[in-house]
Amino acid sequence: MEKWKNKIAVITGASSGIGLAILKDLAINGITVIGLARNVETIEYFKNDLGEIKEKIFTRACDVSNVDSLKESFDWIEKEFSCIHILINNAGILHNLSILDSSDEVTEKINSVISTNFTGAVHCARKAIALMKNSNDYGLVVNINSIAGHNVYSGLNISNVYSPTKFALTAFSEILRQELITNGNDKIRVSNLSPGVVKTEIMVRGKIYPSKDTYNDVAHIFAEDISHGVLYLLSTPWNVNVSQITIKPLGER
Ligand code: NDP
Repeated sequence: MEKWKNKIAVITGASSGIGLAILKDLAINGITVIGLARNVETIEYFKNDLGEIKEKIFTRACDVSNVDSLKESFDWIEKEFSCIHILINNAGILHNLSILDSSDEVTEKINSVISTNFTGAVHCARKAIALMKNSNDYGLVVNINSIAGHNVYSGLNISNVYSPTKFALTAFSEILRQELITNGNDKIRVSNLSPGVVKTEIMVRGKIYPSKDTYNDVAHIFAEDISHGVLYLLSTPWNVNVSQITIKPLGER
């Protein structure tokens, strides 16, 4: 971990759940963190309870599903910091919908899941790697995926578009890792981190559970458990690329 001290990380979806937990842990470990989200007020509010480490945390409003917003944010990062070393591609959404529903409302929801979970992650990785190259230092891209990016859970209305976006992200992680090698880059590593069920707001926003307190019928872990996975990725020696990591609650199949 020590070797990442004073390096610079960008975290997408840093205003809640897993992203917020990673933001805190990286800042505690001496990393300068730029948190991106549509609602950055939540991060600013959260920062106020963090004492001295709040000075390590910066925020910028960004909608990763919108290429103009994404470009504006990364241009700002380049202007303010010139380079970065870590990207945590974490922003993600799901919706409770049926793909057999042909309504315009569902068309819009499907498009928003794809443009947030997949194309948003692809464009963030492209922008972030360009800024990593500015530093000529070591770099790490962590794509926060899901067990739904490896297995299909049919009959679940949350899974039917969400899962294909996460499968695509699994493929993209490996393509990106190999493409960097093909282009002679031996400094930037790519990891695909796939959590099982984590007790966050995602299922509440997706209208699966009315609140986080009603998650009790499923085995779950917490955002901090996923953040510990990221700390593990940062703790490995420079010559190691952990390309796949799955973190499940004990008891989840
Ligand atoms: P939360 O709903 O708690 O957090 C999601 C974050 O994504 C928020 O900070 C939200 O911020 C941000 N976000 C959503 N849409 C956009 C957008 N268009 N642009 C920028 N930011 C956006 O969910 P989790 O913490 O659970 O989810 C984080 C990641 O973990 C996701 O990729 C999810 O798929 C993955 N995951 C979660 C699991 C779980 O059980 N919780 C299991 C497996 C994977 P804002 O609304 O402010 O923009």
